[in-house]
Amino acid sequence: MKEILKFGGASIKDAKSITAVSKIIKDYPNHNIVIVFSAIATVTNLLEGLVEAYHRKDDDVVIKFNEIKSLHISISKNLFEQEHFIFDIINNLFVEIEWALEEEPNQMYSYDYDQIVSVGELLSSHIMSEYLKIDGFKNELIDIRDVFKSDNNYQNANIDWDLTKEICKQKIKNIPVVTQGFLACSSENFTTTLGREGSDYSAAILGNVLNAERVVIWKDVNGVLNSDPRHFSDSKLLDELSFSEAIELAYYGAKVIHPKTIQPLQVKNIPLQVRSFINLENPGTIINDCQITYDMPSYIVKEKQILVSISDKKLSFIVEEHLSYIFSLLDKYNLSVNLMQNSAVSFSLCIDNSKNSVKFLNELRNKFDVLYNSNLVLYTIRHYNNQSLSSFIKNKKIILEQKSRNTVQLITE
Ligand code: ADP
Ligand code: ASP
Ligand code: MG
Repeated sequence: MKEILKFGGASIKDAKSITAVSKIIKDYPNHNIVIVFSAIATVTNLLEGLVEAYHRKDDDVVIKFNEIKSLHISISKNLFEQEHFIFDIINNLFVEIEWALEEEPNQMYSYDYDQIVSVGELLSSHIMSEYLKIDGFKNELIDIRDVFKSDNNYQNANIDWDLTKEICKQKIKNIPVVTQGFLACSSENFTTTLGREGSDYSAAILGNVLNAERVVIWKDVNGVLNSDPRHFSDSKLLDELSFSEAIELAYYGAKVIHPKTIQPLQVKNIPLQVRSFINLENPGTIINDCQITYDMPSYIVKEKQILVSISDKKLSFIVEEHLSYIFSLLDKYNLSVNLMQNSAVSFSLCIDNSKNSVKFLNELRNKFDVLYNSNLVLYTIRHYNNQSLSSFIKNKKIILEQKSRNTVQLITE
């Protein structure tokens, strides 16, 4: 019985938590496991800041680089003897970043991003594999870039499933295995990444191609809750969810699971357990092919939203041709629509505020009259009832409301 265990950045944020994760792995009843690690907490953000500074040619590139390097060295000093070879591995990985930083930035920002930001997962997986070994847990470290083959859509690469399946069968034989989340490799042999928070998806890909019995993702919360505890004080655990309900929650923005995670598991009916690395006695949430009715509303919050209202410059009707052009621009800038609504002469859509949303709005203005409100909050309530809804909207200034049988979405200031 093979299982995939995935540990996110929060679970390995310092030496103490790394020691605790090692214990979880050693005590886990099944050692027929593949263990996927994200970068240590905050490291992906720090590396992202480094790539941005390098592209802008800021003065603090070296300061940013040194901050990330010392973070890894200081954590490792609390885990390993001074002469352990992990320090050479860490130094070598940082030399690779240094070499990249000495070059002129590539025209393609996302290429540089993937080459540099990927080092976060290489560092954490090496540290974890070696620490597990000295803690008595034998394992083989596999570079997932030798296994996950993708296209070269940097920062959001698409997996070549057939090739990945074939290689996986050959390469992942000796278990237990430690590997990286988030990373893959293009046919030109360049590192690619699968999109922010993509390590959950990596675990699901492994679950699918290895026909695992179960995938377990370990979080700093007890499982999937009916709301984000960072926004609500009374979040409740959902013990069991169907694959389709989990896809809906993730799609609307419940940040606990990456939206791409469920589909590779659903097609092979592989259960996904979301559980806490802190409260080990709590089994968390199990996501499977169950058919259940949900009587408790779930709340999903998306901040930093922009509501864009688009109309024709001559106030003529917004017809399919306009919509097709608007969607081609959304595709060009890789933007997802969180909500949309149309009337005869205008079309409104709600998107995340990002660098690309600014570019999108600028290009849109060439053809349309564009008005927008920014810094809004989008609430999605699944399985709402009239009582919970009316108490929820009390004292909120609602700009737009959209209801279907199961879901209500509200945009507020
Ligand atoms: P990872 O360490 O795997 O990267 P994340 O930080 O991405 O973990 O996900 C865990 C966080 O997701 C929690 O700390 C919680 O604040 C947030 N979260 C958002 N929505 C939910 C939800 N519905 N249930 C549980 N946690 C949620
Ligand atoms: N380290 C990556 C990120 O922070 C991937 C992940 O953690 O899932 O986005
Ligand atoms: Mg995460």
